[in-house]
Amino acid sequence: MAGELILIIEDNEKNLKLVRDVLQFHGYRIVEAMTAEEGLEIARAQQPALVLMDIQLPGMDGITALRHLRADPLTRKILVMAVTASAMALDRQRIMAAGFNGYTAKPIQIREFTEEVRTILDRCVGTSAGGA
Ligand code: MN
Repeated sequence: MAGELILIIEDNEKNLKLVRDVLQFHGYRIVEAMTAEEGLEIARAQQPALVLMDIQLPGMDGITALRHLRADPLTRKILVMAVTASAMALDRQRIMAAGFNGYTAKPIQIREFTEEVRTILDRCVGTSAGGA
């Protein structure tokens, strides 16, 4: 199945455009936010299948935003993938321990990135995220 709705939360316009273009090319529908606060509102209202979450954001950071998503019954089951410039192993551990469903380091490698998005969406169909 393709065409799922994906919410991109990213404050860097260049990164946002790249991710949007890649995902639209692959048939996904996109909504986007440049702050976590705005992203949380959109997630509640539009129920995306997947959120791509930048970690370093102005105001609320991506890890705090994930906690808010998980604490809200309306958004708790939405899949969330971290997209972060932090490529160090320690950061990756911290990010996965926070409860993200996946992780991609920036700068994104387009092919690996699109495969990871598809893998997360497929792996989680019919499990906790069913119908999200
Ligand atoms: Mn950022």
